[in-house]
Parts: sequence; structure tokens; C-alpha cells
Amino acid sequence: MKPVPLATPDSQEWFDRIDAGELTVPRCTTCASFFLYPRSSCPRCGARTVELAPAAGTGVLLSFVVNHRGPAGFDAPYALGVVRLDEGPHLTGVVRTDAPDRLEVDARVRVAFEERGERRVVCFELEEEAR
Ligand SMILES: [Zn+2]
Repeated sequence: MKPVPLATPDSQEWFDRIDAGELTVPRCTTCASFFLYPRSSCPRCGARTVELAPAAGTGVLLSFVVNHRGPAGFDAPYALGVVRLDEGPHLTGVVRTDAPDRLEVDARVRVAFEERGERRVVCFELEEEAR
């Protein structure tokens, strides 16, 4: 079985929203910075005025690795990517594609969700394949 992330008190609501099928990005209401990972104070200005803002759900693939031998539960080959969300913060996840060896840096991606038992995890799909 694929692993699921463990929430902390600071990230519980963020993961709960993902379980509900909604990606949010923590945002400081004092300095308007977006950031990840979820935490209770702003990494830029230190204010504890953090809200979860709805994310556009789109971004660009900054980097990736194609794993040809995956751990239990993962069907190799599969791609693991680092995505810069359009809000700015970076998020890591599996990039679902039928052709991982043809992935390219700077590809536009869209957030999707993968069911893992009672939880959901964020993954990505290529915008050009999502139509
Ligand atoms: Zn701030």
C-alpha cells in the first residue's frame, strides 16, 4: 500500500481540505505571501495571520525524476516532480502520464488527487493530456 502523509497540528486543515478534493495554499494576510509547507506563522514576516487560500490548481514542472523501480504499490515507471504552483510555492507529487520518459521541464501541469484508502494525496497531470 502506498504511504499517506501524516498531518501535524499546523497542517491538519490543509490535509483535510485535500481529502475533500480542494487544494489550498497558505497565505499571510499581513504581507500577502503565499508559502508551503503549511505552518501557523508566516516565514517571511513572522505574523501569525495565516489563512488557506484556494489554489488555482495549475503550475509548471520545475524538475522531475522518472523512477523505473518503484517501492511497493507504485507502478513503475512513474515520474515524481517538483511543481511551482501559479501562486508561487513549490509542491512535490507524482506526475501522472502514460509517457514519463517524454516529460519536459517547464511543462504546464494541473493538480489532481489520488485516492489512498481514506485519504487523498496531491498529484499532477500534464495540462495537454488532461483535456
Ligand atoms: Zn507575512
